[in-house]
Amino acid sequence: MIDSHCHLNLAPLGSNLTEVLRKAKQNGVKRIMVPGITPASWNVLSSYNSQPYCDILPIDTAIGLHPYFLPKERDEIPPLLKQFEDAVADAVANTKESLSLVKGALPNAQGFLSVAQGCAPEAQGCSSNAQGCLSSAQGCFSSAQGCFSAIGETGLDGHIPVDMNVQQQVLHAHLDIADSFGLPVILHHRKSHHLLLEALKASSFEGRGVIHAFSGSKDVAKRYIDRGFCLGIGGTVTYERAKKTRDTVTYLLWHHPESILLETDAPDMPMSGRQGQPNMPHYLTDVVAALSALSDIEPNEINAITSANYARLFKPSLF
Ligand SMILES: [Zn+2]
Repeated sequence: MIDSHCHLNLAPLGSNLTEVLRKAKQNGVKRIMVPGITPASWNVLSSYNSQPYCDILPIDTAIGLHPYFLPKERDEIPPLLKQFEDAVADAVANTKESLSLVKGALPNAQGFLSVAQGCAPEAQGCSSNAQGCLSSAQGCFSSAQGCFSAIGETGLDGHIPVDMNVQQQVLHAHLDIADSFGLPVILHHRKSHHLLLEALKASSFEGRGVIHAFSGSKDVAKRYIDRGFCLGIGGTVTYERAKKTRDTVTYLLWHHPESILLETDAPDMPMSGRQGQPNMPHYLTDVVAALSALSDIEPNEINAITSANYARLFKPSLF
């Protein structure tokens, strides 16, 4: 079970992160993606790839400017976008460097294992040590991969007092940089599907991404899927009154299972029955239970399908 959208840096999660991650792990969460929202958040997120956090769960991160937090003054936008582009270029360079270090270590561990396996039966202890060594190298590889995997969160929000032209300008800057580095995008929508689809059509972006916290009709869902996007399914589906989204998600589970990701959007978007308390990544089990009840697909199968989808979108080199 992977939480593909969780703001671990926001209160109250950020102040109690070790406990939040432990609880997520205990409840079956295997990995978490944390989108970037402001320049200050990018620095916090870059520390998640170090101990003690990465020892508990692999954390993937993204760099982006959330429409909620954009400055009101238009002349602040160009320097902010320059800062964003520089941060992405630095993160790409750092990720490449740490990946090549770990990739260099993996063949050594594998060679050690095959030598140990070729030894006499009495050397079994040696073989199991070598296996431990290999699995730590692989764990290290997956954590190193976790440095930085996507561009976002960006998008268009029809409910905030930020000029839609400014939101569109910032969105296009994200799509351009994602395209130039071959990275997936994490897109936010609220009352804006038509504008978001128009923006995607107008841009030269040919990559992939996820429409986070998707809610909407089958028709809208299919239009994103046709463009190669996944749809992030979160707490909305746990509410019986969200009939349209529940119908769409049931349809997607049967006809486009390869396009679904799980998410909590914690600490926002509380699950049904948990209103009034902060959402947490371990409540992802509520989303899986709702999907299973809607589709009659076993929770384990939902976890396997959505984890493979996540790996294809954000971690192509792990395949
Ligand atoms: Zn978000």
